[in-house]
Amino acid sequence: MTSRLDRYRTIVVKIGSALLVESGKPRTEWLAALADDLAALTAEGKQVLVVSSGAIALGRQVLKLPKGPLRLEESQAAAAVGQIALARAWSEVLGARGLTAGQILVTLGDTEERRRYLNARSTIDTLLKLGAVPVINENDTVATSEIRFGDNDRLGARVATMMGADLLVLLSDVDGLYTAPPAQNPDARFLERVERITPEIEAMAGSAGSELSRGGMQTKIEAGKIATAAGTTMVIASGHHLNPLKRIAEGGKATWFLPEANPVTARKKWISGTLETRGSLMIDAGAVNALRSGKSLLPAGVRAIEGRFQRGDAVTILGPKGEVIGRGLVAYDAPEAERIAGRNSAEIEAILGYAGRAAMIHRDDMALRGE
Ligand code: GLU
Repeated sequence: MTSRLDRYRTIVVKIGSALLVESGKPRTEWLAALADDLAALTAEGKQVLVVSSGAIALGRQVLKLPKGPLRLEESQAAAAVGQIALARAWSEVLGARGLTAGQILVTLGDTEERRRYLNARSTIDTLLKLGAVPVINENDTVATSEIRFGDNDRLGARVATMMGADLLVLLSDVDGLYTAPPAQNPDARFLERVERITPEIEAMAGSAGSELSRGGMQTKIEAGKIATAAGTTMVIASGHHLNPLKRIAEGGKATWFLPEANPVTARKKWISGTLETRGSLMIDAGAVNALRSGKSLLPAGVRAIEGRFQRGDAVTILGPKGEVIGRGLVAYDAPEAERIAGRNSAEIEAILGYAGRAAMIHRDDMALRGE
């Protein structure tokens, strides 16, 4: 039997608090079954990332905070306590299946600011390369109300687009999108497939979230917009059964949101289209050829540098005659780039005093003219 997950290589799975936590305790049997699904996917050679809610739900019980909405400081305190328990639950349940969990706590700024974005991405990437499963949550203890995701649906979407994932799975207590909120509308029709998130689709989402989870259908649709625009497919399914991912793979009830483009193209569009450049790198003919054949830009091929850019900024890539070759996100600040330009990557550590990245602009962070 073919699995509906076969074609996806990098999968972000977002799990809502209501699934993970019951009466202030992790739902261990459910979590164990989910971990079986994750282990099965990794055994098929897929990369899996988990975006896990539950810190506040776990911590509020321990701190005996009252039911109902919490004040900001209370949720921060609850998250401080609950995140420890959450990380332990993941580490144990994945560990029991031979998988290593790596905890990543991010704030909105980590995904919005280019420098920090590149840092977060490279840490997660390294974890994946080392075969670990990143377990990601918002850093609720330091996030304040103005600068936070607040819901893990959108955080999941940001993580998925940041990592160029091809699938985002939202597991929660709803089984997908209906033409109207089903609780109030007995005639609401279930949608299996959403080709594009139009204003009509947005209007179908009611606003309800439950007491434990912040995100209702609206934040899921917001997440869908972020994900699909960047080329990531999104699927919403209920986590109310054991082995929810296996269920999706076998064609169980779910709403699939189709991507607008493939992630690489969307990312390149983002690099080439929407960013202001902060400077330029002039490269030699050999490097131009290397770039055109799909390679990264190494310091050795860089002849001259212009501008006061910082690591993570977009710069213009110029050929030997000053012609525009493309754009990319540079891996070094201008003064460092200056020092290693024209040098072999193996010398970087000796020159700068630390082992920086081998490439001045990584292939994935580059969009060439006409690409
Ligand atoms: N980051 C929150 C937590 O761990 C969850 C946010 C959400 O419910 O989406 O408790």
